[in-house]
Amino acid sequence: MKITIKKIMVLAIFSTVNMLAGFLFPNTMPNCFAQLNLINNKTSYINHIQLDTNFLLIPIQIELREIKTEFRYATTNNFTGKKLYKQPIAMLIEPAEKALNKACKKLKSKGLGIIIYDAYRPYSVTQEMWKIFPDERYAANPAKGSGHNRGIAVDLTLFDLHTGKSLDMGTDFDHFSDSAHHSFLGFQQEVIKNRKILRAAMEEAGFRALETEWWHYSLPIPTSNAPVLDLPFKTVYKTYQRFKK
Ligand SMILES: [Zn+2]
Repeated sequence: MKITIKKIMVLAIFSTVNMLAGFLFPNTMPNCFAQLNLINNKTSYINHIQLDTNFLLIPIQIELREIKTEFRYATTNNFTGKKLYKQPIAMLIEPAEKALNKACKKLKSKGLGIIIYDAYRPYSVTQEMWKIFPDERYAANPAKGSGHNRGIAVDLTLFDLHTGKSLDMGTDFDHFSDSAHHSFLGFQQEVIKNRKILRAAMEEAGFRALETEWWHYSLPIPTSNAPVLDLPFKTVYKTYQRFKK
């Protein structure tokens, strides 16, 4: 009788620990990719694009004077303090790139340009970020994948086309506190106005804002349709060249 109770207790402890591990570390559980359409090789990516060219990632037209890049994750000037990728290329799926261009035109008419901090980002970089900052308000949970991994999300700010200076948005990019939220109104009117200008242009073009990050916008398409990519920038770019021939 004693042994049976012991066995039951051991089993109960074991299953509780197992359940807690699944809850605390979802990205380490073997079934974490179950709902992710993860593509991590060139052949699978090409096959997927052949089925639906809407998911082809194309370069954002950074040759335009209204678009600049400042890839923070290619430097140590980001929340991780580490260089998370090398030689990035600003890319989005075609419908998102078109929408961004629409927003750019609207902003240009107001004398403004955009600075892109991040667009497509390989899935392995999202995993790295989550290890350092596992907070879903500010970092994508790898169990779900990020809009950046799908090429549907972009992080950006505004600059004045005349002076070349960035607009005051109240906080820096990747500032993880409530002052980065759209609902935070404890700033001067100019900051609130600048955030509203960016948001209005992006939403009018079809993007959706993220309440907790003034710099993050994504195209609202069903994420189950868009594959999560874990491919180097070069591979994604070469695939674009292949399909654009
Ligand atoms: Zn983002």
